[in-house]
Amino acid sequence: MNPSLTMRGELRLNEPMYRHTSWRLGGPADRYYRPADLPDLCVFLKQQQPREPLIWVGLGSNLLVRDGGIRGTVIDISRALKHLQKRGCHVLGEAGGSCSRLARYSAAQGLAGAEFLVGIPGTLGGALAMNAGAFGGEIWELVQQVQMVDRKGTLHEYQRADFGISYRSVQAPVAGWFVGVELRLQADTAGQSEARLRELLQERACRQPLGLPSGGSVFRNPPGVAAGQLIERCGLKGVQQGGAQVSDKHANFILAAAPVKAADVETLIGRVQQQVLEHCGIQLIPEVHIIGDPLPVTEACH
Ligand SMILES: Cc1cc2nc3c(=O)[nH]c(=O)nc-3n(C[C@H](O)[C@H](O)[C@H](O)COP(=O)(O)OP(=O)(O)OC[C@H]3O[C@@H](n4cnc5c(N)ncnc54)[C@H](O)[C@@H]3O)c2cc1C
Repeated sequence: MNPSLTMRGELRLNEPMYRHTSWRLGGPADRYYRPADLPDLCVFLKQQQPREPLIWVGLGSNLLVRDGGIRGTVIDISRALKHLQKRGCHVLGEAGGSCSRLARYSAAQGLAGAEFLVGIPGTLGGALAMNAGAFGGEIWELVQQVQMVDRKGTLHEYQRADFGISYRSVQAPVAGWFVGVELRLQADTAGQSEARLRELLQERACRQPLGLPSGGSVFRNPPGVAAGQLIERCGLKGVQQGGAQVSDKHANFILAAAPVKAADVETLIGRVQQQVLEHCGIQLIPEVHIIGDPLPVTEACH
């Protein structure tokens, strides 16, 4: 076999997805691949059958994986593709690195503008896919260009203008996944970035229930109103389904407060949607991505 086509990453079979999601939920993925680096990822992709389902996960902080798991191959770049580099007022980051690390790195390098990313518990790739944002900032406001890989393992570069960007939504020009990004920041002339990071982390700890597993905000905010306010208005704070519970602190969070199944979380999501629709006339749309198969009915009962 051509040595340049030998995989160097780690392939696992029947990998439990609860190990890879912030909710700590989810059945097994048929195959789970962690590439060794970017060339290895490209080799792996070239070797996949055209019909093999490929599912990318970052740090699983916006994913509800169902109890029956995932049919296909999960690709996780969060262990290997993490390099960061400063170039003038720009930062180049591989997409498997975390948002928090990029925010801290930028501040330490004397660059301002990425502070809002601190405390978003996902990868840069996940943040690009979701147009993640906080405290008035969104990642795509900073993007100069991105590097993507397609399912044949070919790399492509795109500019920000090539994408359709809106609130928590990104339309890419082609099918593929993010492997790198160049962010445009500014010189931290006021020397306040490090202090701002601490301030934002404190604010997050005050507002969000960070002590129990969750998937962050479950629903998108409808225009002009916070989803959490609507949920609170319906008296749903603290409501439970199995071990899943609407947070008392932030009503748009559903917590794994006790041993829980993904099916309980999904049922609670449906109950919240129904109540908010009945009482407020607004259809809440999930921000979390719900993927995978439910357990077969016989197994779900035991
Ligand atoms: C406590 C908590 C607080 C949170 N606070 C915020 C917040 O303030 N703001 C906010 O926006 N979000 C927040 N989130 C949600 C989540 O952290 C973000 O959406 C984050 O960007 C998801 O990144 P991830 O790496 O975990 O992606 P995952 O959850 O692993 O994946 C999310 C989606 O992105 C896709 N994806 C992942 N990597 C790639 C890639 N490289 N290329 C293409 N697609 C990819 C996946 O297939 C999936 O569809 C919070 C979550 C938690 C648990």
